[in-house]
Amino acid sequence: MVTGAGPAGARSAWLCAQAGLRTLLVERGGVPREKCCAGGLLERASGLLEEPLPSSVIEQEITSVSIVHADFRADFELQARAAVTVRRSAFDAYLAERAVKAGAELWSRSTITKVAERPEGVEMTVDGRAVASKALIVAEGATSRTASALFGPYRGRDQGMGVATTCRLDRDPGGRMEFHFLGTPLEKFPYRFQFPLNGWMFATRRGANIGVAGKDLSGERYRAGMDLMRRNVEERYGEVLDVRTSAHPIPMVPRRRLHTRRCLVVGDAAGLASPMSGEGMTNAFKSAALASEAVRGLIADGASLSSYRRGVASDILPIIRASRAISPPVQWLMGVVDTPLLVKKLRDDPEMVSTCLRISRGEVEWEALLRLVVRRFPYLFFSSLT
Ligand SMILES: Cc1cc2nc3c(=O)[nH]c(=O)nc-3n(C[C@H](O)[C@H](O)[C@H](O)COP(=O)(O)OP(=O)(O)OC[C@H]3O[C@@H](n4cnc5c(N)ncnc54)[C@H](O)[C@@H]3O)c2cc1C
Repeated sequence: MVTGAGPAGARSAWLCAQAGLRTLLVERGGVPREKCCAGGLLERASGLLEEPLPSSVIEQEITSVSIVHADFRADFELQARAAVTVRRSAFDAYLAERAVKAGAELWSRSTITKVAERPEGVEMTVDGRAVASKALIVAEGATSRTASALFGPYRGRDQGMGVATTCRLDRDPGGRMEFHFLGTPLEKFPYRFQFPLNGWMFATRRGANIGVAGKDLSGERYRAGMDLMRRNVEERYGEVLDVRTSAHPIPMVPRRRLHTRRCLVVGDAAGLASPMSGEGMTNAFKSAALASEAVRGLIADGASLSSYRRGVASDILPIIRASRAISPPVQWLMGVVDTPLLVKKLRDDPEMVSTCLRISRGEVEWEALLRLVVRRFPYLFFSSLT
């Protein structure tokens, strides 16, 4: 059984059903349902799906990226598609329907309330009904109660927070993603991992997704960030209409325990979003593939689920560690140098631009950027001082 029909759960269910396992997918909300998200699906994430996305699910193809910092703006025209934008209601429904077509049974508007693991299987209560399964994949997202019950509570201090708005705009932003540096530049070296307030504008079919994400900030700070983002977007693209806003936590530290004898935790419920950007769909899909592979081994041969832990340790954790390592020096650089000058230097550095594009397309990992930043650091630092 899989609980939670977001990207991690729906892909897990699809893979289990494809492998011929009797699969039940339980979703607390309806299908389709909205998830608070910017809807930026990087090529590295969509490339993990086995078939191209239907055009009905794609809002915009992203081939332009802008970096905005106060009055400064740098536009990057990319040589290839870096991402598409999606509406999560349509995208998640497409993934859930795909699982159903492959043979999974979907119970929407159903909630798992109790779970007890026995040597021979897992017993659960779903809407008051007893359900038994040989294995359980927990894909309930950042606020998962089942993951807390099985693996312990997720620490609030390991979470960031995102606020996202969908809206229509007067003027079409085209296939563009904008990243806005909003957080106050830091004045000393941050020894700890930092995630200052950043904002975005991701173009959709008739408007945009606008939002902010940060960590350890007050509600007032998020509200002020959203007001600023709205003003920035209105200045360029005209009136912001039909606004719908929601907020949701973003897990930034992987859980220590990822499985028991018969239960595994995937995606945001496992804390696998990127601590650099909050991007979570790539690791939702990767962890789903590793988990369903482990479940197939358990059911076919009684193999231990520890293959899942090993898979996450080799395929996912090094990338998360690299992005955590890269974050403090980048934040520090932004704080002490002339940021517009630094961004101009980055824009004029073809290797840097192509490495970022290749990361978004899944052709190289964050370690490649880390190596490049380490090599360029003295030059970038000294030449960008005011
Ligand atoms: C503001 C914001 C912007 C973001 N932008 C991006 C972005 O642009 N690109 C990107 O890649 N990532 C982005 N992310 C992260 C991304 O949304 C998540 O990483 C992704 O949704 C994780 O997928 P998931 O399947 O693990 O969890 P979720 O998508 O959260 O799905 C979990 C599902 O489980 C269901 N559920 C919960 N409890 C139960 C229960 N007890 N029983 C049954 N069902 C249950 C929920 O209803 C939900 O449908 C963003 C996050 C935020 C907050």
